[in-house]
Amino acid sequence: MQSPSDKLQFTAQLLTLFPEMFPGPLGQSLAGKGLKDGLWALKTLDIRDFSRDKHRSVDDTPAGGGAGMVIRADVLGDAIDAALSEAKDDWPLVYMSPRGRQFTQQTAKRWQKAGGVTILCGRFEGVDERVLSARDVEEISLGDFVLSGGEPAAIAMLDSVIRLLPGVMGAAETLNEESFTSGLLEYPHYTRPAVWEGLEIPEVLSSGHHGKIAEWRLKMSEELTRIRRPDLWSTYVLAQKQKD
Ligand code: SAH
Repeated sequence: MQSPSDKLQFTAQLLTLFPEMFPGPLGQSLAGKGLKDGLWALKTLDIRDFSRDKHRSVDDTPAGGGAGMVIRADVLGDAIDAALSEAKDDWPLVYMSPRGRQFTQQTAKRWQKAGGVTILCGRFEGVDERVLSARDVEEISLGDFVLSGGEPAAIAMLDSVIRLLPGVMGAAETLNEESFTSGLLEYPHYTRPAVWEGLEIPEVLSSGHHGKIAEWRLKMSEELTRIRRPDLWSTYVLAQKQKD
């Protein structure tokens, strides 16, 4: 029989001022089932527990003046060290930050392979810069927009990692055909009814001819990528040329 630790494939450690935001959406549906079944684990550390005063304060005014508050270096340094003492060496240590490199499907795969991640969620104006360099924290962004905290970004990123874990999604092959896996966007899907509001399903999909269906899907993927994502398209074309 498998013990729970044999099944465990991924651990997420979250440093946050709002531990009650987790697991949040990750406690539902397939990710939630995976969490219950012990395929992945979630640990939260409340940054406030590392405060050094009786008011449990964690932030202070920005050096040099200006609006907002900044999470203090001493408090955060201790919180990160506590998290690192629980982490494996190869788990990435990341800070959710609009200044970071953008999270992609490749990042999701890298975290999955590492078997875990430690994520620092910022609030207010952000965190004292010294901690990021002293602890060699990698900054990762969800996209070019500003959230009020790192928690929703962490949840979105973790969702994409967890669905890659064997046993979380039903059919493993659905993962291979998805957007970005091959460098292309996914082809369109159809299901019943065969005719809806006078609109039919593309004929080839009802042909039962697997080769033709695969060919059609690839053509649609290429077409969509070329039109919608010229950036992905040029990378794809280059990779195809190098293959030939
Ligand atoms: N003053 C900062 C924004 C602070 S937003 C700036 O202009 O860059 C507060 C917190 O939300 C940040 O510390 C960060 O942890 C999180 N956050 C905001 N936008 C984000 C994004 N696009 N991706 C990931 N985290 C983000």
